[in-house]
Amino acid sequence: MSRQHLIFDADDTLWRSGHKFGAASAEFCELLSRPGLSVERVQEVLDQVAKLTYDTHGTTTRNYLRGAEITYRLLAEEVTPDGIARVEALSAHLSWAEPELIDGVFQTLRQLRDRHDLLLLTRGDDEEQQAKIDASGLISHFRATIVVPDKDARVYTDVVYRYGLDPELTWMIGNSTRYDIAPALEAGLRAVHIPEENPWGPEQGRFPEPEDGMLLRLSTFPDLLHHF
Ligand SMILES: [Mg+2]
Repeated sequence: MSRQHLIFDADDTLWRSGHKFGAASAEFCELLSRPGLSVERVQEVLDQVAKLTYDTHGTTTRNYLRGAEITYRLLAEEVTPDGIARVEALSAHLSWAEPELIDGVFQTLRQLRDRHDLLLLTRGDDEEQQAKIDASGLISHFRATIVVPDKDARVYTDVVYRYGLDPELTWMIGNSTRYDIAPALEAGLRAVHIPEENPWGPEQGRFPEPEDGMLLRLSTFPDLLHHF
């Protein structure tokens, strides 16, 4: 295979991220649920509020906590300083000091970088994502690491132009159909979907069935070595 441009998503593609929010959310739902207000209902409201908060203010840990506090104020029988403090304490689940790499990521990237041009493209807060990239120990594998507030087809087209990529030879590799796969295909790129175990609803998006050869579906990260 000729040299390809491989653009990698980061959260839940290179390192685990969603499970930390899952743990924080589980504790939050436990805190608020009571007879007549199920854990599932609290989770539903939290997801809706978090999505609105992200759409307005960006996808960051701080905005997740902000969404949790808004949800607490909406659903709690009584808003108390102790309750607020317990919501703020959810941040203990959300430390990024030591990103937990997904199995095989380091070794796979080390092999791929000899054969291909690797870039990292992640959405979120610049400072927060940059800190995760630095802590991951993966930065030397990539020609460029790019943080964007959102990922849509225009962003992919812009990356192709800025980094001098040939769209015919460019693949987006990620866990999210909404942010990685659908917009990359829309921008005329190819894509590799590696789904995570417990996908978060808002990360999922629809896209028209792509033409043959445009989309690869893999089950693990090291499977990339069979294709690239
Ligand atoms: Mg992701």
